[in-house]
Amino acid sequence: MSKAISRPKKGPYKPRVMPTDLDELQWLAKKWGADDAVAIKTSEIILDPRVRFKCMVPKCYMSGGCGHCPPNGYSLEQVKQMIDAHDWAIFFRVKVPASIIAAKGLGKFIADGNMDPEGNLFNLGGHYLLTFSITKLLQKTLSEMGYVSRAGFAAGNCRDALCHFQPNCMDLATGSCRHADLSSPSMESCGMNAFKMAACQGWEVYPIGGTCEPESIGGGNLMGLVLIAPENKPGLLESPSTLQHPLPRAQNKGQSLGETLKQKQKEAKRSLEAMKQSQVTPSLLMAMARQRKIWTRFSKNLHELYGSWGKVLAKNHLMFSGQPRNKAQGC
Ligand code: SF4
Repeated sequence: MSKAISRPKKGPYKPRVMPTDLDELQWLAKKWGADDAVAIKTSEIILDPRVRFKCMVPKCYMSGGCGHCPPNGYSLEQVKQMIDAHDWAIFFRVKVPASIIAAKGLGKFIADGNMDPEGNLFNLGGHYLLTFSITKLLQKTLSEMGYVSRAGFAAGNCRDALCHFQPNCMDLATGSCRHADLSSPSMESCGMNAFKMAACQGWEVYPIGGTCEPESIGGGNLMGLVLIAPENKPGLLESPSTLQHPLPRAQNKGQSLGETLKQKQKEAKRSLEAMKQSQVTPSLLMAMARQRKIWTRFSKNLHELYGSWGKVLAKNHLMFSGQPRNKAQGC
């Protein structure tokens, strides 16, 4: 059984990052679903402009498709300044089975935005969501411990994992991210050579392309990193994040209960249609059951982040709401 952890809301002021806290953070990252987690000095973060360029040349299908994906998101200069302003980082990885990440024909389903009948894409999404949640939980915990973390990074794009059923990235459309509380830029979009950094830790990494077969790789890795600095560290900048917190939801002032229910019904119908279009079928429940460890862990992480199951449900509702692609009209 995992150890219950109770922490003060805000830790005492610490002039430097304490080794015992770094140990606890690594342990927590593993408890929250990471397969490995290490504390590294920020000087060990490898920045390489070619990594960010690789998102754009040749153009990845998501390049420019969300607020975090190049050419959007942090510039290399901002990332460098941000790293220099912190002392330590927790670097972690979430392993993905080869049978999922290199499943036959998966690339086509990703490009089309449709779920494959075996549920591999759905379960791959679960691994990405888990990685996002670990990054946010580490940042939350760092703040409770009395540290500052101006930036955290995850893997892949947030559009597929968090806004899959929506017609667009709300951050790009309105300047306000739909999931600012869960989404983070990927290490690679910020020019970090996550593969090389993983190899430095002795983690086996495999480049995975569209022609990969599960038998030809040992597995996949989704990596994340969270920066750490003591509070009041000189030169600590404000986050240059372009992502804003969601706009307050429009109040349905003057709307009767009947009208509100009718509107909700309409929204639910649209979301169901969007899911049907993306080939979300009950058979995915079987796939989820095969990866229940990942989905259960993700749900527990959301509970830890938001503090109540009601809020977890609301988050899931937001992730699964959307509009059919051909009928998309704005956000
Ligand atoms: S709205 Fe936020 S979470 Fe959704 S795709 Fe845009 S940046 Fe990502």
